[in-house]
Amino acid sequence: MMDRDVGVGRSVINDPVPGRVRIESDAVPQPPVQEASQARPPAVAREAVFDIHDMAVFYGESQALGWTSLRIYRHVVTAVIGPSGCGKSTFIRSLNRMNDAIPGFRLEGQVLYHGHDVYAAATNRVEVRRRIGMVFQKPNPFPKSIFDNVAWAPRNLGMRVDLNERVERALQHAALWDEVKDRLHESALGLSGGQQQRLCIARALAIEPDVLLLDEPASALDPIATASIEELMHTLKHRYTIVIVTHNMQQAARVADHTAFFSLDTTGSERIGTLVEYADTETIFRRPRDTRTRDYVTGQFG
Ligand code: ADP
Repeated sequence: MMDRDVGVGRSVINDPVPGRVRIESDAVPQPPVQEASQARPPAVAREAVFDIHDMAVFYGESQALGWTSLRIYRHVVTAVIGPSGCGKSTFIRSLNRMNDAIPGFRLEGQVLYHGHDVYAAATNRVEVRRRIGMVFQKPNPFPKSIFDNVAWAPRNLGMRVDLNERVERALQHAALWDEVKDRLHESALGLSGGQQQRLCIARALAIEPDVLLLDEPASALDPIATASIEELMHTLKHRYTIVIVTHNMQQAARVADHTAFFSLDTTGSERIGTLVEYADTETIFRRPRDTRTRDYVTGQFG
């Protein structure tokens, strides 16, 4: 395990404001960050995109997610699995401040993105969403043309130069270009469910994010469309860092390099989502260290 002491004690964080440096208090000791241990050592040094320290999430009075620390690495697919209600969506949506609009939402701890505190007062939320894109469970194209769907975010952000090329590139990266290149100005609502989901991925890619968060992206799709989304993930990870929530364990086993298993801690009076185990996917599915992980991946509960 490398850097196991990161997160313990005093740390210095550069905020996105140039020159501004914040010193974190070391009053509260933090648990060691869970590394995704590798079955084989990686050929190149791994770069952490997210470094999450002691993150806890509350909705009003109730705590949805317990104190969670882990690192998410660049250019791999990280799957988040676990039974319903264990905080998978809450976790992934907290990575790009998608929960901010929920009344009563409160996050404690720290989400560092390339060393920048995502929740710092000085952090620009629009910039966070630009770099960390998200695709949801149900395909949600706008009732506009295929082209206008993909061009929507670049236009909003003033990225109008070479817009046609940008749209084409995004559609190619989402493996949709060949299917739609002759009908770019037709309604996106005429596409199949699987095509609509790949369009939503293209829409997210059009502003060239660094990270793609996928919240159950294939759960509303048929098996063929699901297979094409899974295949896409294998190619996208060479350009983007991908975090996917899935309730489908086979899907996690097929697409993910690393897997985080969350479960519900029911020891107290509340049911709080808890990170149980985080490792390379093979370890989680073949040699889990925690009996709760073993019970879940062998279908004993969930
Ligand atoms: P999962 O994705 O694993 O099914 P969620 O993150 O959706 O879990 O939910 C975790 C907990 O947070 C659940 O108890 C759920 O009821 C609660 N929760 C989720 N979203 C909200 C919300 N908008 N307001 C209040 N509670 C919520």
